[in-house]
Amino acid sequence: MHRVLITEHIHEEGLRDLYEAPNIETIVRLDLSKEELYEAVKDADALITRSGTAVDAKLLDAGKNLKVVARVGVGVDNIDLEAASKRGVIVLNSPTGNTLAATELTMGMIIAVARKIPQANNSLRKGEWRRENFLGTQLYGKTLLIIGLGRIGSSVATRAKALGMEVFCYDPYINAKKVENLGVRRLDDLHGALALADFVTIHVPLTGETKNMIDDEALRSIKKGAYLINCARGGIVDERACAEALKEGRLAGAAFDVHAVEPPKGSPLFDPEIAAKVVLTPHIGANTKEAQQAVAEIVVKNLIKALNGEPYENAVNIPYMENRMTLQEREFLSLARRMGMIAACVVKEHIAKMTVTMAGPLFEEFELNLPFELPYRYMPFTTAALKGLLEVRLGPEVNAMSAPLLAKEQGVSIFESRTEARTYKNILSVEIKSQNKAFSMDGTVTEEGKKRIVRVDGYEIDFVPEGWILLFSNHDRPGVIGKIGTLLGDYNVNIANFALGRKNGSGLAIAALQLDSSAPREIMEKIQKDADLLWAHLINLNGE
Ligand code: NAD
Repeated sequence: MHRVLITEHIHEEGLRDLYEAPNIETIVRLDLSKEELYEAVKDADALITRSGTAVDAKLLDAGKNLKVVARVGVGVDNIDLEAASKRGVIVLNSPTGNTLAATELTMGMIIAVARKIPQANNSLRKGEWRRENFLGTQLYGKTLLIIGLGRIGSSVATRAKALGMEVFCYDPYINAKKVENLGVRRLDDLHGALALADFVTIHVPLTGETKNMIDDEALRSIKKGAYLINCARGGIVDERACAEALKEGRLAGAAFDVHAVEPPKGSPLFDPEIAAKVVLTPHIGANTKEAQQAVAEIVVKNLIKALNGEPYENAVNIPYMENRMTLQEREFLSLARRMGMIAACVVKEHIAKMTVTMAGPLFEEFELNLPFELPYRYMPFTTAALKGLLEVRLGPEVNAMSAPLLAKEQGVSIFESRTEARTYKNILSVEIKSQNKAFSMDGTVTEEGKKRIVRVDGYEIDFVPEGWILLFSNHDRPGVIGKIGTLLGDYNVNIANFALGRKNGSGLAIAALQLDSSAPREIMEKIQKDADLLWAHLINLNGE
């Protein structure tokens, strides 16, 4: 008999499988103090929580029998993943299940802001009858720009088309076939796309690239009189710039379910001057009975499988794996992830293929092309490179277990192979192909455990993949590096280190500058426009 402890309020219907399972005893204990929780978890084989229970090392120690911790929902900030992995405890979540709920709220927000429904409701309740104040905008025949055509973005597209809207998308990473199948037109320039749309709705994750994506400059590109909807994540839109755009009439309306700070105390969007144009809700995108039931059902289904020793989905960690590796192997894992991140920043298109090649004795004890189902089919280094590649685009929620499944969903073909090591004892190569580009890198870990990138696109180079890296390819002529250095100096950005790679006779070079801080967008725009440069990308490799 497995004992499952539930410490937070979970949708009853979503727990049905748990109650019906013959070999499971379900214990619901809500509002426990810390001491009561340590006591209750003592005999539990599994724990089901939401975000309100801190699953830290102490709690995991108290739960000596714990095999699974299940989080009903997506975020696992309240769970110490490292501590769970060390103890061999599987952590599950439910990343899907709320797509329809978020889609339907988005449709509601589009209609609410276009027809001023909340304002009309408030006015009528005040005893007024002012129909002239609530002149709305028709959706039929209007253009809708969807930023991020993932799960929610594509299901918004289908519904908007049913309303007779003309739908465009901006999502450089999406498979062309998917866009075509949805009957959506893809635009590759965000500012150009913003200039065309009557309605703009955001469905991207919050990543380094999407943070403040809709800033003052982007808002100034927006078609005059457009409406902006954000039901994705706070922080993607600059709220102050958005309030300004509303005041100046550049935007006709804005509807936000998510906020830079939640709860949004003192948000510029609360300004009474723009109250007639703004609709705000308290992050209720996933709040439908059905979605709450679905996320609980997904977690419960996988939890039962995991307890019964059957294959399960949506695990966030890989218990034991990293723990059983040597320090050098773990450094290679971290190197692979960073190589994936660099590749994602350089090839800003849908990735069709990723090849990971391993050479040297370190990789020999790992089996290639494992005969398992996803996500267990690849070598840990391949999985780590995939995780890096996808987390730049899909956010920090991508983990080693979900990365292979997400890659399949995104149409990325994965190949792994082994070859002979030459110059370096152990070497890892990552090669990426999109429809128009190819990019490759070799990396190694020195005997002292230092990660290095030693080749980029066939150019020998040597840099440490850490911190802020400005990577660029240039015409190999005098003065280019000096010019970039001066430009960075003008903006007070210090260069900590720089590495150059040249190929005889090519006339081209590759440079990697390690910066002490991020380079502002203006510098990157200037650098990218410089005639001496072929391409330039700023890569953030801070963090673990
Ligand atoms: P998804 O991963 O299926 O799709 C995200 C899409 O964004 C992908 O197609 C990706 O290629 C694209 N993308 C990433 N970076 C981009 C960039 N820089 N420019 C353009 N496109 C980019 O995610 P999803 O399940 O559709 O969720 C979308 C968003 O909605 C997420 O931020 C999620 O957290 C949020 N969400 C909010 C609620 C809510 O309660 N309001 C509920 C569920 C999800």
